[in-house]
Amino acid sequence: MSQIINTVNPYNGETLDSYKQFSNEMVENYLSRAHQTFQNWRSTDIKERTDLFKQLAENLLKNKESYSTLMTQEMGKPISQSRAEIEKCALLTDFYVTNADEFLADELIETDASESFISYDPLGCILGIMPWNYPFWQVLRFAIPTIAAGNTVLLKHASNVTGCALAIQNLFEESGFPKGCFQTLLASHDQIETIIADNRLQAVSLTGSEKAGKHIAALAGKNLKKTVLELGGNNACIVLADADLDTYLDTMVNARMQNTGQSCIAAKRFIVEAPIYDEFLEKLIKKVSNIKIGDPLKDDTELSVLARKDLADTLKKQVDQSVKNGATIKIGNTIKDAFFEPTIITDVNPGMPVFDEETFGPVAAIIKVNNADEAYKMTANSKYGLGSMVFTKDTETAKHQINQIPDGAFFINELVKSDPRLPFGGTKASGYGRELSIEGIHEFVNKKTVYIN
Ligand code: NAP
Repeated sequence: MSQIINTVNPYNGETLDSYKQFSNEMVENYLSRAHQTFQNWRSTDIKERTDLFKQLAENLLKNKESYSTLMTQEMGKPISQSRAEIEKCALLTDFYVTNADEFLADELIETDASESFISYDPLGCILGIMPWNYPFWQVLRFAIPTIAAGNTVLLKHASNVTGCALAIQNLFEESGFPKGCFQTLLASHDQIETIIADNRLQAVSLTGSEKAGKHIAALAGKNLKKTVLELGGNNACIVLADADLDTYLDTMVNARMQNTGQSCIAAKRFIVEAPIYDEFLEKLIKKVSNIKIGDPLKDDTELSVLARKDLADTLKKQVDQSVKNGATIKIGNTIKDAFFEPTIITDVNPGMPVFDEETFGPVAAIIKVNNADEAYKMTANSKYGLGSMVFTKDTETAKHQINQIPDGAFFINELVKSDPRLPFGGTKASGYGRELSIEGIHEFVNKKTVYIN
Protein backbone atom coordinates (compact mmCIF):
# COMPACT_ATOMS: atom_id res chain seq x y z
CA MET A 1 0.00 0.00 0.00
CA SER A 2 1.35 3.42 -0.98
CA GLN A 3 1.64 5.96 1.81
CA ILE A 4 0.02 9.39 1.58
CA ILE A 5 2.21 12.49 1.91
CA ASN A 6 0.29 15.45 3.34
CA THR A 7 1.75 18.94 3.08
CA VAL A 8 0.72 21.32 5.86
CA ASN A 9 0.92 25.11 6.07
CA PRO A 10 2.91 25.69 9.29
CA TYR A 11 1.40 29.16 9.74
CA ASN A 12 -2.21 27.99 10.14
CA GLY A 13 -1.94 24.21 10.40
CA GLU A 14 -4.14 23.67 7.32
CA THR A 15 -3.47 20.74 5.02
CA LEU A 16 -2.39 22.08 1.65
CA ASP A 17 -2.39 18.95 -0.45
CA SER A 18 -2.08 15.17 -0.38
CA TYR A 19 0.16 13.09 -2.62
CA LYS A 20 0.47 9.36 -3.09
CA GLN A 21 3.92 7.93 -2.57
CA PHE A 22 5.20 6.08 -5.65
CA SER A 23 4.78 2.34 -6.02
CA ASN A 24 7.96 0.30 -6.55
CA GLU A 25 6.98 -0.02 -10.19
CA MET A 26 6.83 3.76 -10.62
CA VAL A 27 10.21 4.19 -8.95
CA GLU A 28 11.62 1.63 -11.39
CA ASN A 29 10.06 3.46 -14.36
CA TYR A 30 11.57 6.78 -13.30
CA LEU A 31 15.01 5.28 -12.78
CA SER A 32 14.82 3.50 -16.10
CA ARG A 33 13.79 6.72 -17.86
CA ALA A 34 16.64 8.66 -16.21
CA HIS A 35 19.08 6.01 -17.41
CA GLN A 36 17.65 5.94 -20.95
CA THR A 37 17.59 9.73 -21.25
CA PHE A 38 21.22 9.86 -20.20
CA GLN A 39 22.25 7.82 -23.26
CA ASN A 40 21.25 10.74 -25.53
CA TRP A 41 21.65 13.68 -23.15
CA ARG A 42 25.32 12.88 -22.53
CA SER A 43 26.19 13.63 -26.16
CA THR A 44 24.07 16.72 -26.68
CA ASP A 45 25.98 19.82 -27.62
CA ILE A 46 26.69 22.10 -24.67
CA LYS A 47 25.04 24.96 -26.59
CA GLU A 48 21.82 22.93 -26.80
CA ARG A 49 21.96 22.38 -23.03
CA THR A 50 22.69 25.99 -22.14
CA ASP A 51 19.88 27.21 -24.44
CA LEU A 52 17.47 25.12 -22.41
CA PHE A 53 18.87 26.58 -19.19
CA LYS A 54 18.33 30.09 -20.60
CA GLN A 55 14.68 29.19 -21.01
CA LEU A 56 14.63 27.74 -17.50
CA ALA A 57 15.96 30.99 -16.01
CA GLU A 58 13.23 32.92 -17.87
CA ASN A 59 10.55 30.54 -16.63
CA LEU A 60 11.77 30.83 -13.06
CA LEU A 61 11.23 34.58 -13.20
CA LYS A 62 7.95 34.25 -15.10
CA ASN A 63 6.60 31.93 -12.39
CA LYS A 64 8.21 33.81 -9.50
CA GLU A 65 4.97 34.71 -7.73
CA SER A 66 3.43 31.24 -7.86
CA TYR A 67 6.68 29.52 -6.80
CA SER A 68 7.22 31.99 -3.97
CA THR A 69 3.68 31.56 -2.70
CA LEU A 70 4.03 27.78 -2.79
CA MET A 71 7.31 27.86 -0.83
CA THR A 72 5.87 30.23 1.75
CA GLN A 73 2.74 28.13 2.18
CA GLU A 74 4.66 24.86 2.49
CA MET A 75 7.45 25.94 4.84
CA GLY A 76 6.57 29.37 6.22
CA LYS A 77 9.39 31.45 4.71
CA PRO A 78 8.46 35.18 4.53
CA ILE A 79 7.31 35.85 0.96
CA SER A 80 9.92 38.56 0.29
CA GLN A 81 12.61 35.97 1.06
CA SER A 82 10.89 33.39 -1.19
CA ARG A 83 10.99 35.88 -4.05
CA ALA A 84 14.67 36.57 -3.38
CA GLU A 85 15.31 32.81 -3.47
CA ILE A 86 13.75 32.45 -6.93
CA GLU A 87 15.74 35.45 -8.22
CA LYS A 88 18.93 33.90 -6.88
CA CYS A 89 18.07 30.61 -8.65
CA ALA A 90 17.79 32.54 -11.92
CA LEU A 91 21.23 34.12 -11.30
CA LEU A 92 22.70 30.69 -10.61
CA THR A 93 21.23 29.39 -13.86
CA ASP A 94 22.62 32.37 -15.80
CA PHE A 95 26.03 31.73 -14.25
CA TYR A 96 26.18 28.20 -15.67
CA VAL A 97 24.68 29.32 -19.01
CA THR A 98 27.64 31.66 -19.33
CA ASN A 99 30.36 29.40 -17.96
CA ALA A 100 29.45 25.71 -18.44
CA ASP A 101 31.13 25.53 -21.84
CA GLU A 102 34.46 26.76 -20.47
CA PHE A 103 34.22 24.67 -17.26
CA LEU A 104 33.65 21.48 -19.25
CA ALA A 105 36.16 22.09 -22.04
CA ASP A 106 39.08 19.67 -22.37
CA GLU A 107 41.95 20.81 -20.18
CA LEU A 108 45.25 20.48 -22.00
CA ILE A 109 48.22 19.39 -19.90
CA GLU A 110 51.73 19.24 -21.33
CA THR A 111 53.47 15.90 -20.85
CA ASP A 112 55.72 13.63 -22.96
CA ALA A 113 52.68 12.77 -25.11
CA SER A 114 51.98 14.46 -28.40
CA GLU A 115 48.67 15.42 -26.81
CA SER A 116 47.35 14.90 -23.28
CA PHE A 117 44.38 16.40 -21.55
CA ILE A 118 41.55 15.94 -19.05
CA SER A 119 38.15 15.20 -20.55
CA TYR A 120 35.17 15.97 -18.30
CA ASP A 121 32.67 13.21 -19.06
CA PRO A 122 29.26 12.90 -17.39
CA LEU A 123 28.66 9.96 -15.06
CA GLY A 124 24.98 9.10 -15.60
CA CYS A 125 21.99 9.31 -13.32
CA ILE A 126 22.64 11.16 -10.03
CA LEU A 127 20.31 11.21 -7.02
CA GLY A 128 19.75 14.44 -5.08
CA ILE A 129 18.31 14.20 -1.55
CA MET A 130 17.34 17.68 -0.46
CA PRO A 131 16.03 19.62 2.57
CA TRP A 132 13.05 21.94 2.90
CA ASN A 133 14.74 25.14 4.14
CA TYR A 134 15.47 26.60 0.68
CA PRO A 135 13.11 24.39 -1.35
CA PHE A 136 14.14 25.71 -4.80
CA TRP A 137 17.69 26.89 -4.18
CA GLN A 138 19.06 23.68 -2.64
CA VAL A 139 17.68 21.58 -5.48
CA LEU A 140 18.81 23.82 -8.32
CA ARG A 141 22.24 24.48 -6.77
CA PHE A 142 22.85 20.75 -7.21
CA ALA A 143 20.79 19.98 -10.31
CA ILE A 144 21.79 22.77 -12.70
CA PRO A 145 25.54 22.12 -12.87
CA THR A 146 24.96 18.37 -12.67
CA ILE A 147 22.59 18.34 -15.65
CA ALA A 148 24.68 20.93 -17.53
CA ALA A 149 27.58 18.47 -17.29
CA GLY A 150 25.50 15.89 -19.19
CA ASN A 151 24.07 13.86 -16.29
CA THR A 152 20.43 13.20 -15.47
CA VAL A 153 18.93 13.82 -12.03
CA LEU A 154 16.44 12.13 -9.74
CA LEU A 155 15.21 14.22 -6.81
CA LYS A 156 14.09 13.00 -3.40
CA HIS A 157 12.92 16.20 -1.72
CA ALA A 158 11.88 16.66 1.92
CA SER A 159 8.30 15.46 2.13
CA ASN A 160 6.94 18.72 3.63
CA VAL A 161 7.80 20.56 0.37
CA THR A 162 6.40 18.01 -2.08
CA GLY A 163 4.51 20.71 -3.99
CA CYS A 164 7.80 22.55 -4.63
CA ALA A 165 9.46 19.27 -5.67
CA LEU A 166 6.81 18.68 -8.34
CA ALA A 167 6.87 22.33 -9.44
CA ILE A 168 10.61 22.03 -10.11
CA GLN A 169 10.04 18.96 -12.28
CA ASN A 170 7.38 20.94 -14.22
CA LEU A 171 9.84 23.82 -14.57
CA PHE A 172 12.33 21.56 -16.36
CA GLU A 173 9.64 20.08 -18.58
CA GLU A 174 8.08 23.42 -19.49
CA SER A 175 11.58 24.72 -20.34
CA GLY A 176 11.92 21.99 -22.96
CA PHE A 177 14.27 19.50 -21.25
CA PRO A 178 13.79 15.85 -22.26
CA LYS A 179 11.47 14.20 -19.74
CA GLY A 180 14.09 12.05 -18.00
CA CYS A 181 16.61 14.86 -17.39
CA PHE A 182 15.06 15.92 -14.10
CA GLN A 183 12.47 13.83 -12.28
CA THR A 184 10.97 14.10 -8.82
CA LEU A 185 10.43 10.87 -6.93
CA LEU A 186 7.85 10.67 -4.18
CA ALA A 187 9.78 7.81 -2.62
CA SER A 188 10.06 6.24 0.81
CA HIS A 189 13.39 5.87 2.59
CA ASP A 190 13.36 2.15 1.74
CA GLN A 191 12.86 2.89 -1.94
CA ILE A 192 15.77 5.35 -1.80
CA GLU A 193 17.93 2.56 -0.39
CA THR A 194 16.97 0.33 -3.35
CA ILE A 195 17.80 3.10 -5.84
CA ILE A 196 21.22 3.72 -4.28
CA ALA A 197 22.03 0.02 -4.68
CA ASP A 198 20.97 -0.01 -8.36
CA ASN A 199 23.74 -0.09 -10.97
CA ARG A 200 22.02 2.58 -13.05
CA LEU A 201 22.51 5.12 -10.24
CA GLN A 202 26.02 6.59 -10.20
CA ALA A 203 26.24 8.96 -7.24
CA VAL A 204 24.31 10.81 -4.53
CA SER A 205 24.30 14.42 -3.36
CA LEU A 206 22.63 15.01 0.01
CA THR A 207 21.91 18.31 1.69
CA GLY A 208 20.42 17.78 5.12
CA SER A 209 21.15 16.77 8.67
CA GLU A 210 24.23 15.00 9.97
CA LYS A 211 22.06 11.98 10.79
CA ALA A 212 20.70 11.64 7.24
CA GLY A 213 24.19 12.30 5.83
CA LYS A 214 25.76 9.47 7.82
CA HIS A 215 22.98 7.09 6.86
CA ILE A 216 23.03 7.85 3.13
CA ALA A 217 26.85 7.95 2.95
CA ALA A 218 26.97 4.51 4.57
CA LEU A 219 24.49 3.12 2.03
CA ALA A 220 26.38 4.72 -0.85
CA GLY A 221 29.71 3.49 0.51
CA LYS A 222 28.41 -0.05 0.71
CA ASN A 223 27.62 0.22 -3.00
CA LEU A 224 30.79 2.16 -3.93
CA LYS A 225 28.89 5.25 -5.02
CA LYS A 226 30.34 8.70 -4.68
CA THR A 227 28.61 11.17 -2.33
CA VAL A 228 28.62 14.90 -1.82
CA LEU A 229 27.34 15.87 1.63
CA GLU A 230 26.18 19.38 2.59
CA LEU A 231 25.21 19.01 6.24
CA GLY A 232 24.52 21.09 9.31
CA GLY A 233 26.53 24.00 10.64
CA ASN A 234 27.19 25.93 13.82
CA ASN A 235 28.84 29.03 12.38
CA ALA A 236 30.53 31.48 14.70
CA CYS A 237 30.17 35.22 14.25
CA ILE A 238 33.13 36.87 15.97
CA VAL A 239 32.62 40.45 17.05
CA LEU A 240 35.99 41.97 17.94
CA ALA A 241 36.40 45.07 20.11
CA ASP A 242 36.97 47.29 17.06
CA ALA A 243 33.94 45.99 15.09
CA ASP A 244 31.95 48.69 13.30
CA LEU A 245 28.51 48.05 14.79
CA ASP A 246 26.94 51.08 13.09
CA THR A 247 27.75 49.63 9.68
CA TYR A 248 27.42 45.90 10.32
CA LEU A 249 24.83 45.24 13.04
CA ASP A 250 22.07 44.71 10.45
CA THR A 251 24.31 42.19 8.65
CA MET A 252 24.91 40.32 11.92
CA VAL A 253 21.19 40.17 12.72
CA ASN A 254 20.44 39.02 9.19
CA ALA A 255 23.15 36.36 9.53
CA ARG A 256 21.16 34.77 12.36
CA MET A 257 17.53 35.61 11.57
CA GLN A 258 17.17 35.25 7.78
CA ASN A 259 14.89 32.40 6.76
CA THR A 260 13.60 32.54 10.37
CA GLY A 261 16.96 31.20 11.50
CA GLN A 262 16.67 28.01 9.45
CA SER A 263 19.87 28.21 7.48
CA CYS A 264 22.86 25.88 7.65
CA ILE A 265 25.24 28.84 7.33
CA ALA A 266 23.47 31.07 9.85
CA ALA A 267 25.50 32.75 12.60
CA LYS A 268 24.53 30.51 15.48
CA ARG A 269 27.19 31.50 18.02
CA PHE A 270 28.12 35.17 18.53
CA ILE A 271 31.55 35.28 20.12
CA VAL A 272 32.08 38.79 21.42
CA GLU A 273 35.20 40.48 22.84
CA ALA A 274 34.64 41.90 26.34
CA PRO A 275 35.19 45.65 25.60
CA ILE A 276 32.34 45.76 23.06
CA TYR A 277 30.10 43.17 24.74
CA ASP A 278 27.65 45.48 26.56
CA GLU A 279 27.21 47.83 23.59
CA PHE A 280 26.77 44.90 21.20
CA LEU A 281 24.20 43.18 23.40
CA GLU A 282 22.16 46.32 23.95
CA LYS A 283 22.06 47.12 20.22
CA LEU A 284 21.36 43.51 19.28
CA ILE A 285 18.41 43.27 21.68
CA LYS A 286 16.97 46.49 20.25
CA LYS A 287 17.32 45.32 16.64
CA VAL A 288 15.96 41.84 17.24
CA SER A 289 13.00 43.24 19.22
CA ASN A 290 12.09 45.36 16.19
CA ILE A 291 11.98 42.53 13.66
CA LYS A 292 8.58 42.51 11.97
CA ILE A 293 6.93 39.22 12.85
CA GLY A 294 3.74 38.03 11.18
CA ASP A 295 1.91 36.25 8.37
CA PRO A 296 4.60 34.96 5.99
CA LEU A 297 2.43 35.85 2.98
CA LYS A 298 2.52 39.57 3.87
CA ASP A 299 5.09 41.60 1.95
CA ASP A 300 6.57 43.34 4.99
CA THR A 301 6.93 40.28 7.25
CA GLU A 302 10.56 39.65 8.16
CA LEU A 303 10.22 36.59 10.38
CA SER A 304 7.48 34.03 10.79
CA VAL A 305 6.87 30.42 11.80
CA LEU A 306 9.33 27.57 11.56
CA ALA A 307 8.64 24.97 8.88
CA ARG A 308 7.04 22.47 11.28
CA LYS A 309 5.86 22.37 14.88
CA ASP A 310 8.30 19.59 15.83
CA LEU A 311 11.20 21.86 14.81
CA ALA A 312 9.99 24.50 17.30
CA ASP A 313 9.70 21.81 20.00
CA THR A 314 13.28 20.62 19.37
CA LEU A 315 14.61 24.17 19.53
CA LYS A 316 12.76 24.80 22.79
CA LYS A 317 14.40 21.75 24.36
CA GLN A 318 17.85 22.95 23.29
CA VAL A 319 17.29 26.41 24.76
CA ASP A 320 15.67 25.18 27.99
CA GLN A 321 18.47 22.68 28.61
CA SER A 322 21.04 25.46 28.10
CA VAL A 323 19.20 27.59 30.66
CA LYS A 324 19.31 24.66 33.10
CA ASN A 325 23.07 24.55 32.47
CA GLY A 326 23.45 28.23 33.45
CA ALA A 327 22.58 30.31 30.36
CA THR A 328 20.32 33.41 30.62
CA ILE A 329 17.42 34.37 28.37
CA LYS A 330 17.58 38.07 27.47
CA ILE A 331 14.56 38.09 25.16
CA GLY A 332 12.27 35.52 23.57
CA ASN A 333 11.97 31.77 24.12
CA THR A 334 8.20 31.58 23.88
CA ILE A 335 6.66 29.10 21.52
CA LYS A 336 3.21 28.65 19.98
CA ASP A 337 2.65 25.80 17.55
CA ALA A 338 5.32 26.26 14.84
CA PHE A 339 6.21 29.79 15.97
CA PHE A 340 9.38 30.35 17.98
CA GLU A 341 9.97 33.87 19.23
CA PRO A 342 13.33 35.42 18.29
CA THR A 343 15.58 34.68 21.23
CA ILE A 344 18.83 36.05 22.63
CA ILE A 345 20.59 33.86 25.17
CA THR A 346 23.72 34.91 27.08
CA ASP A 347 26.19 33.33 29.52
CA VAL A 348 26.64 30.56 26.96
CA ASN A 349 29.52 28.14 27.31
CA PRO A 350 30.76 24.96 25.64
CA GLY A 351 28.81 21.98 26.97
CA MET A 352 25.43 23.69 26.48
CA PRO A 353 23.21 22.57 23.58
CA VAL A 354 23.10 26.10 22.11
CA PHE A 355 26.91 26.06 21.91
CA ASP A 356 27.56 22.43 20.93
CA GLU A 357 24.61 21.67 18.64
CA GLU A 358 23.09 23.23 15.55
CA THR A 359 20.08 25.39 16.51
CA PHE A 360 17.74 25.56 13.53
CA GLY A 361 15.67 28.64 14.32
CA PRO A 362 15.89 32.27 15.52
CA VAL A 363 18.12 31.78 18.56
CA ALA A 364 21.28 33.85 18.98
CA ALA A 365 23.71 32.37 21.51
CA ILE A 366 26.12 34.98 22.91
CA ILE A 367 29.52 34.08 24.30
CA LYS A 368 31.77 36.66 25.98
CA VAL A 369 35.55 36.27 25.56
CA ASN A 370 38.55 38.22 26.83
CA ASN A 371 40.47 38.60 23.60
CA ALA A 372 40.67 37.72 19.90
CA ASP A 373 42.76 34.58 20.50
CA GLU A 374 40.07 33.18 22.74
CA ALA A 375 37.44 34.09 20.15
CA TYR A 376 39.20 32.17 17.39
CA LYS A 377 39.75 29.16 19.68
CA MET A 378 36.01 29.13 20.56
CA THR A 379 35.17 29.39 16.87
CA ALA A 380 37.19 26.29 16.01
CA ASN A 381 35.70 24.48 19.03
CA SER A 382 32.89 22.88 17.05
CA LYS A 383 32.30 19.52 15.48
CA TYR A 384 30.92 21.42 12.46
CA GLY A 385 32.95 23.28 9.84
CA LEU A 386 30.71 25.16 7.43
CA GLY A 387 31.91 28.73 7.89
CA SER A 388 32.93 31.55 10.22
CA MET A 389 32.67 35.30 10.04
CA VAL A 390 34.59 38.01 11.86
CA PHE A 391 33.73 41.69 12.23
CA THR A 392 36.69 44.00 12.82
CA LYS A 393 38.23 47.18 11.40
CA ASP A 394 41.62 45.44 11.32
CA THR A 395 41.18 43.27 8.23
CA GLU A 396 44.92 42.63 7.86
CA THR A 397 45.21 41.00 11.30
CA ALA A 398 42.01 39.00 10.73
CA LYS A 399 43.50 37.64 7.50
CA HIS A 400 46.14 35.81 9.59
CA GLN A 401 43.34 33.48 10.69
CA ILE A 402 42.44 32.32 7.17
CA ASN A 403 44.60 29.21 7.43
CA GLN A 404 43.86 28.62 11.11
CA ILE A 405 40.07 28.25 11.02
CA PRO A 406 39.23 24.75 9.76
CA ASP A 407 35.95 25.70 8.02
CA GLY A 408 34.75 25.66 4.42
CA ALA A 409 34.37 29.46 4.42
CA PHE A 410 35.88 32.48 6.20
CA PHE A 411 34.21 35.85 5.77
CA ILE A 412 35.50 39.18 7.07
CA ASN A 413 32.92 41.97 7.65
CA GLU A 414 30.22 40.02 5.81
CA LEU A 415 27.81 37.23 6.67
CA VAL A 416 28.65 33.78 5.35
CA LYS A 417 26.61 33.43 2.17
CA SER A 418 26.63 31.45 -1.03
CA ASP A 419 27.48 32.92 -4.42
CA PRO A 420 27.37 30.94 -7.70
CA ARG A 421 30.90 32.16 -8.52
CA LEU A 422 32.43 30.78 -5.31
CA PRO A 423 32.65 27.19 -4.06
CA PHE A 424 30.36 26.23 -1.19
CA GLY A 425 30.76 23.35 1.26
CA GLY A 426 32.00 22.25 4.64
CA THR A 427 34.51 20.27 6.63
CA LYS A 428 34.16 17.92 9.65
CA ALA A 429 30.51 17.10 10.49
CA SER A 430 29.33 19.69 7.95
CA GLY A 431 30.15 17.26 5.17
CA TYR A 432 32.45 17.16 2.15
CA GLY A 433 32.50 18.04 -1.50
CA ARG A 434 31.71 21.42 -3.02
CA GLU A 435 28.79 22.96 -4.83
CA LEU A 436 28.64 26.07 -7.08
CA SER A 437 31.44 27.57 -9.20
CA ILE A 438 33.66 25.34 -11.33
CA GLU A 439 34.03 22.99 -8.32
CA GLY A 440 30.31 22.19 -8.33
CA ILE A 441 30.13 21.24 -11.99
CA HIS A 442 33.21 19.03 -11.55
CA GLU A 443 31.74 16.96 -8.69
CA PHE A 444 29.75 14.58 -10.87
CA VAL A 445 32.02 14.06 -13.86
CA ASN A 446 34.58 11.48 -14.80
CA LYS A 447 37.83 13.42 -14.96
CA LYS A 448 39.26 11.26 -17.69
CA THR A 449 42.95 11.27 -18.52
CA VAL A 450 43.53 11.18 -22.27
CA TYR A 451 47.05 10.45 -23.53
CA ILE A 452 47.93 10.35 -27.23
CA ASN A 453 51.46 9.32 -28.11
P1 NAP B 1 16.89 15.94 7.09
O1 NAP B 1 15.85 15.55 8.07
O2 NAP B 1 18.21 15.32 7.18
O3 NAP B 1 16.26 15.70 5.65
C1 NAP B 1 16.97 16.01 4.48
C2 NAP B 1 16.51 15.12 3.36
O4 NAP B 1 16.97 13.80 3.63
C3 NAP B 1 15.00 15.02 3.22
O5 NAP B 1 14.68 14.90 1.86
C4 NAP B 1 14.67 13.73 3.95
O6 NAP B 1 13.48 13.15 3.50
C5 NAP B 1 15.87 12.90 3.55
N1 NAP B 1 16.16 11.78 4.41
C6 NAP B 1 16.37 11.79 5.75
N2 NAP B 1 16.65 10.53 6.19
C7 NAP B 1 16.62 9.73 5.11
C8 NAP B 1 16.81 8.33 4.90
N3 NAP B 1 17.09 7.50 5.90
N4 NAP B 1 16.68 7.82 3.65
C9 NAP B 1 16.38 8.64 2.62
N5 NAP B 1 16.19 9.98 2.74
C10 NAP B 1 16.31 10.52 3.97
O7 NAP B 1 17.15 17.51 7.12
P2 NAP B 1 16.10 18.67 7.07
O8 NAP B 1 15.44 18.78 8.39
O9 NAP B 1 15.22 18.55 5.86
O10 NAP B 1 17.05 19.93 6.81
C11 NAP B 1 17.71 20.59 7.82
C12 NAP B 1 19.17 20.18 7.88
O11 NAP B 1 19.78 20.40 6.61
C13 NAP B 1 19.95 21.04 8.85
O12 NAP B 1 20.85 20.25 9.58
C14 NAP B 1 20.71 21.99 7.93
O13 NAP B 1 21.86 22.54 8.49
C15 NAP B 1 21.01 21.11 6.78
N6 NAP B 1 21.31 21.93 5.60
C16 NAP B 1 22.60 21.97 5.14
C17 NAP B 1 22.91 22.77 4.05
C18 NAP B 1 24.31 22.87 3.51
O14 NAP B 1 24.44 23.38 2.42
N7 NAP B 1 25.32 22.40 4.20
C19 NAP B 1 21.91 23.52 3.44
C20 NAP B 1 20.63 23.46 3.93
C21 NAP B 1 20.33 22.64 5.02
P3 NAP B 1 12.15 13.09 4.42
O15 NAP B 1 11.59 14.45 4.47
O16 NAP B 1 11.29 12.12 3.70
O17 NAP B 1 12.61 12.57 5.77
